[in-house]
Amino acid sequence: MSGRYHPSGSKAANTLAGVAAWLRQCLATRRNAERAEAETAIAVENARLAHARLRAAIDILPEGVVFLDSEGRYILWNQQYADIYKRSADLFQPGVKLEDTLRVGVARGDYPEALGREETWIRERVERLYNPTGRHEQLLSDGRTILIEERLTGDGGVIGLRVDITEMKKREASFRLLFDGNPVPMFVYALDGFRILAVNDAAVKHYGYGREAMLAMKLGAIHSGDCQALDTIDKTAEDSAGRTWQHRKACGSIIDVAIFFSQLTYEGQSAALIAAVDITARKRAEARIAFMAHHDALTSLPNRVLLRLRMEEMLAGLRHGGSGFAVICLDLDNFKWVNDTLGHSLGDTLLQQLGERLRRELPERETIARLGGDEFAILQSHVETPGDVSELMTRLLSLFGEPFDLDGHTVTVGASMGVALAPDDGCDTDRLLKNADMALYRAKAEGKGAFCFFEQDMDARVQSRRRLEIDMRTALQAGGFEVHYQPLVGLDSGEFRAFEALIRWPHPERGMISPAEFIPVAEETGLISQLGLFVLRRACADAARWPDGVNVAVNLSPIQFKNGVLLQTVRDALTEAGLSPTRLELEITETLLLDKSELVSSTLHALRALGVRISMDDFGTGYSSLSYLRSFPFDKIKIDRSFVHDISANADSQAIVRAIVSLGESLGIKITAEGVETETDLAYLKAEGCTEGQGFLFSKALPQREILALLAEQKTRRAA
Ligand code: C2E
Ligand code: CA
Ligand code: CA
Repeated sequence: MSGRYHPSGSKAANTLAGVAAWLRQCLATRRNAERAEAETAIAVENARLAHARLRAAIDILPEGVVFLDSEGRYILWNQQYADIYKRSADLFQPGVKLEDTLRVGVARGDYPEALGREETWIRERVERLYNPTGRHEQLLSDGRTILIEERLTGDGGVIGLRVDITEMKKREASFRLLFDGNPVPMFVYALDGFRILAVNDAAVKHYGYGREAMLAMKLGAIHSGDCQALDTIDKTAEDSAGRTWQHRKACGSIIDVAIFFSQLTYEGQSAALIAAVDITARKRAEARIAFMAHHDALTSLPNRVLLRLRMEEMLAGLRHGGSGFAVICLDLDNFKWVNDTLGHSLGDTLLQQLGERLRRELPERETIARLGGDEFAILQSHVETPGDVSELMTRLLSLFGEPFDLDGHTVTVGASMGVALAPDDGCDTDRLLKNADMALYRAKAEGKGAFCFFEQDMDARVQSRRRLEIDMRTALQAGGFEVHYQPLVGLDSGEFRAFEALIRWPHPERGMISPAEFIPVAEETGLISQLGLFVLRRACADAARWPDGVNVAVNLSPIQFKNGVLLQTVRDALTEAGLSPTRLELEITETLLLDKSELVSSTLHALRALGVRISMDDFGTGYSSLSYLRSFPFDKIKIDRSFVHDISANADSQAIVRAIVSLGESLGIKITAEGVETETDLAYLKAEGCTEGQGFLFSKALPQREILALLAEQKTRRAA
């Protein structure tokens, strides 16, 4: 490219000046040429450097990169590109056409899509090169999938990118498999805008909206209520895994779901996959279990556990300056009778109805619990003095004024209640419950249908009662009870007409204990049945050894009528002893007749039909209703000793005794005066017309051995 000497045909060449000019021109040309030569060299060097830099740049890219010129010839490519297509170096040279390498590839069977239409495929591929339509995927026969992206460059060439997406495709396929076939409902939703992008079959089936509808929905449409919570989902996608949400089904029902999240890219968008496990049934079961743990199954009222928790709360409030409260224990009177006569199922109905009545009567905030059986407890808040409770107690007692309708049976039951106040009567749940229970115990003892406040000395009394109960059981087993007999004397003849069997308990530590003390305890605990049977059998056996005209009187507790076996028990005792029924007198009190049940009346009549005599004991102390005397044909009335004692000095007693005697005479009933202690008493009683007397004046109760002696004496006296 150096400047050259060109001889020219001009005339000036032949002149010196012309030569000089020519030389100058030559020199200038030469200088220009040298400059141009240098510039070209720089340009070439620059191009070489740029090429090398570009090559270095594309070599560090993970994708395959290729540059083609406007005619589809290779200009530049990186190693990754060559590796993807496994191009052999001898063929693969700059200037070679893409079309040619495609043809080699097709011949090798590299492109499964080209099979059978090789030339068409090559033509389409080359055409596509210059009309790029974004990305497309290319399948290779070895199973790989290549993502192709091509763009036109400024000079009419093409830059192409190749990414091996085989692994991604595999992952996608396994994702689809897991997604579509999963029994757990799943959605994919766009993090931006919450549009549902995909749902699996389980979701379509479980939610019931239909696939198309779901794909047109935003997640908020099924996410019940709080779309706001959705915002927290994607921010804390990992953290909120396993949290419980509520979803709405197409039918409108709300279900509880545990949601598991996972963030992913779905069709190029950032999305979240959620698996929604329906835990509605489990939650319901859990709630049911939690409810059962704290409530009574029969009445659905809180149980003892919940009562205690509520008490703990109130006690904690109390410690922090809150107000006091009352614990009320309530127990039905004669519930056992309902159960025994009407059956347990009606007994349950009664308890349910009572639960409802109590619930209606008390404000929502107050706790009513069923502790078991016919025992209920009530917590009344804001109580500072007993006066604050009395009003409620009266209202509660009035609930029992209305009869209960048990499947057509109209039943009236009463209740007794005991009250303990916090903090005065205790500062812990155990003590408060125990004290309220003790007060209840007292209320029962004092006559049913009442309420009692706890008092400090109740505790000791209850302790000693418990002790007594235990000792009684022991004595019953060990034969520790005895029966003594007190004579009933004919006032005209002074002869023994009968002997009343009175139980005696010589306690190993306490000495003789009065039946007035232990009989009530035996009645409360049910021990009276065994005790009564013991006395009855012993009395009949002992009386069988007395002369024919001498009777034996046995006291019966109302409790002994309750189980319906009394008649048989009496019959057995008489047969066993060989005693005539006409020699047995059974003493009952007015309390028994308060119970107007069929059972009591029929038992009394049956006993009488057997030949047994029935006496009305302690007459005048209880309700003294003369109607009782007419309701049953009693054989004998025993005037209570409180009217007999000191009768000479008491005009009222005299009037009462006189009235009873005249009533007895008109009804044909014999009258016995109890507690005759003095000759003066005796004289008055005789004057009033009493026929029989009993009391220390004649004799206290004595053991059988001494009774036999007394009877022998009488026989001798008579003979004399
Ligand atoms: P009760 O049936 O009224 O028995 C008469 C009670 O009066 C007896 O007391 C007797 O000792 C007492 N007594 C007799 N004469 C006199 C007297 O002149 N003056 C005074 N102040 N008292 C007199 P006890 O043996 O202590 O019995 C008390 C109560 O215990 C009896 O009263 C009876 O209700 C009950 N009881 C006794 N034994 C039995 C029994 O085997 N079964 C049942 N269910 N109750 C019994
Ligand atoms: Ca008696
Ligand atoms: Ca009596």
